[in-house]
Amino acid sequence: MIVVMRPSATQQEVDGVKRSIEEHGLEAFLSVGEERTVIGVVGDVERISHLGTLPGVDQVIRVSSPYKLASIQEPGERTRVRIGPVEIGLGSELVIMAGPCAVESREQLLETARCVSREGARILRGGAWKPRTSPYSFQGMGLPALKLLAEARGETGLPIISEVVDPADVEVFDDHVDILQVGARNMQNFALLRAVGQSRRAVLLKRGLSATIEEWLLAAEYVLAAGNPNVILCERGIRTFETATRNTLDLSAVPVLRQKTHLPIVIDPSHGTGARALVGPMALAGAAVGADGLLIEVHPDPANARSDGDQSLSFDEFGALMDELRRLQFVRAPADAPPLPDERNLAASGIDDLRDRIDEADARLADLVQERAALALEVQRRRDPHVHGHDVRRERDLLERAANGTSGPMTPVELTVVFDAVLRASRSVQRRHAQSALNDEDAAAGTGR
Ligand code: PEP
Ligand code: MN
Repeated sequence: MIVVMRPSATQQEVDGVKRSIEEHGLEAFLSVGEERTVIGVVGDVERISHLGTLPGVDQVIRVSSPYKLASIQEPGERTRVRIGPVEIGLGSELVIMAGPCAVESREQLLETARCVSREGARILRGGAWKPRTSPYSFQGMGLPALKLLAEARGETGLPIISEVVDPADVEVFDDHVDILQVGARNMQNFALLRAVGQSRRAVLLKRGLSATIEEWLLAAEYVLAAGNPNVILCERGIRTFETATRNTLDLSAVPVLRQKTHLPIVIDPSHGTGARALVGPMALAGAAVGADGLLIEVHPDPANARSDGDQSLSFDEFGALMDELRRLQFVRAPADAPPLPDERNLAASGIDDLRDRIDEADARLADLVQERAALALEVQRRRDPHVHGHDVRRERDLLERAANGTSGPMTPVELTVVFDAVLRASRSVQRRHAQSALNDEDAAAGTGR
């Protein structure tokens, strides 16, 4: 730290500053110039933050950064945070975190979890407690949502992230989720920062709506200083005069942070823009500027989402974005993509002939799908109509077998998408049958509606 005295400062005032520094156990180095005296201080300057108020002092200049643990010691220093099988930061692959803004129901979450997992996301997001601007908006399902998230993790293997809003909840989050999110509105909730600092889980700290980068890093410092080294920063847009977007996504924060901190950086283009059409472009931009991860809201039916539907991607939109990220090589292509088949086999035929054969293949496909549904229906007929649901593990095995037992231009992921649709339709047939059997039962018992 450097203390610059005023040109008019008296010897007495200079002595007073020197004494104050030494009384706090630090060393003072005086440099007496023609016009003014400058005093250098070495040591823990947090203890002498009052120096600027002493008589004769013009300004106090910090030389080292105020965030000791978050700052880099050497240019280019980076850390990597490990979340189960996923690593983020330090040149690891771009990590996509995706899922609904809020967990709304078991079906909504599991469907979304399956979709984002299939498309290549590595972390599943879902809000359990929602910090909403209006007290009348949906506030989240609370603890049942955490349990559903844990169930989704069990099925997909994706680690989960959810926002904690109360220091008293940290323990229960520790038991259920893999990454504790501290939301923009809580970036300077210091009690919450200290509490998540004591968690054994990783923490994703969002930038406050009007926080400077220094304030954000000092918030991260709270978590680090409380003993938790696994902090990830998330830029999610700040308030500016611009109203065309919900927030102004500050992408320059990425290179700025790279100069200041070793912590991994995530971009949230959903809250950063507030509009579905802008999420893809800004996600690509975030990847291009070197973010370590992206946090993206996805919903099975964005138009009817209970929160942030306007900025949530549909499954198709999310799939298209993941394709684009893969095409630009921000995320890895499935390692097991087969080589395209020998084209010469088909090349001899004319286009009309090829189209005729496609029509035939479609007709065979329709017959096969109907045959499969008829078999599934027969299984349902022979089972108790009260038994709902389906065997997820069996379905997964079945998909894996089907995907591995065939060869062609489709990747296992693409094939899985097709089978997933077939399974969904076939389940819908089974459900219809079960429902009509139950109605018959009710009618027979004289309680029919
Ligand atoms: C969220 O991620 O759902 C959320 C509430 O974000 P933010 O804190 O950035 O508004
Ligand atoms: Mn949201």
